[in-house]
Amino acid sequence: MLAVVIEKPHRWRVTDVPDPTPQDDEVVIAVSACGVCGTDLHIFEGSFPSKLPLFPGHEFAGEVVEVGKGVKSVKVGDFVAVHPNKPCLLCEFCREGNEHLCENLQAYGVHIPGGFAQFVAVKETNVYKAEGLTPLQAAWAEPLSCCLHGLNRVGVKSGERALVIGCGPIGLLFVQLLLIHGASEVVAVDLSEERLSVAKQLGASVTLQPNEFASSHKDIAPHGFALVVEASGNPKAVELGLKVVKAGGRFLQFGVCPTDATAGFSPFAVYRKEITIVGSFSLGREMPQALNLLMSGRIKVDVLTTHQLGLEGFGEAVRLMREAKSLKVQLLPNLGK
Ligand SMILES: [Zn+2]
Ligand SMILES: [Zn+2]
Repeated sequence: MLAVVIEKPHRWRVTDVPDPTPQDDEVVIAVSACGVCGTDLHIFEGSFPSKLPLFPGHEFAGEVVEVGKGVKSVKVGDFVAVHPNKPCLLCEFCREGNEHLCENLQAYGVHIPGGFAQFVAVKETNVYKAEGLTPLQAAWAEPLSCCLHGLNRVGVKSGERALVIGCGPIGLLFVQLLLIHGASEVVAVDLSEERLSVAKQLGASVTLQPNEFASSHKDIAPHGFALVVEASGNPKAVELGLKVVKAGGRFLQFGVCPTDATAGFSPFAVYRKEITIVGSFSLGREMPQALNLLMSGRIKVDVLTTHQLGLEGFGEAVRLMREAKSLKVQLLPNLGK
């Protein structure tokens, strides 16, 4: 089969390797679509703690083509989306129910072979039936689950005014989720006018570039925002976002900042305004929730998927993402097969 391999930082190629065979508790999936994520970019650039060489890709869906002897819940021909995390289930964090915080966490496409390949073997417990969704939609189950994980952690109440900083694919999922959950309005901030226009199309009431926002937020929300979602991963955006949380409000750190970045904030303001700062990493058990939302059509992902390419498009995907010329890029490993 063909698969993308990252051999070392900044070096990748499409390689021909043996097809995977399933263990007793695994299924083999013919990957229909796999989203390219910022994490893939970080792995490619060597700024993520993944061991190379690696077959990347952790946002994928496809058809079951082979099942191991012990598999009971899915059969050949089923269309499934994949939860990429493979926790150890033995460490303190797993035993506390926080499998995504597992200290021995392995994830398909991050530590073990992933979805930018024609076939992948994954555990039966990692697949979720996704009949009724297109491959394009089903490959969104993982990133949408991550957003739901963040939203479930931070919470949003009906009638709250929210701010989303960063309108990449994740920020644009948050714009939609916050409105579905009853936010009275969502203000969206990004450098790109194209991304802001998509935010507007998806229901954001006000869309602004960061400098416009910095000079006008007091007119828009004189007391600040009940909920601020940081989805850019830029430390400057973190600082700006923390300054505009309303007294009693919450701040969600969702964007992935560089591992050594720091951001300044006023501990006095956090104390005096009783601000809650919440972090969110990966996903827990939100896949069924995400698949239901995708199935309902209430979360729009077609408009967020700007490119679908074959495996050899990985380099193009990296370039598009670096230049913020795309929203979600998906690779279709079996395109034309
Ligand atoms: Zn991801
Ligand atoms: Zn564990």
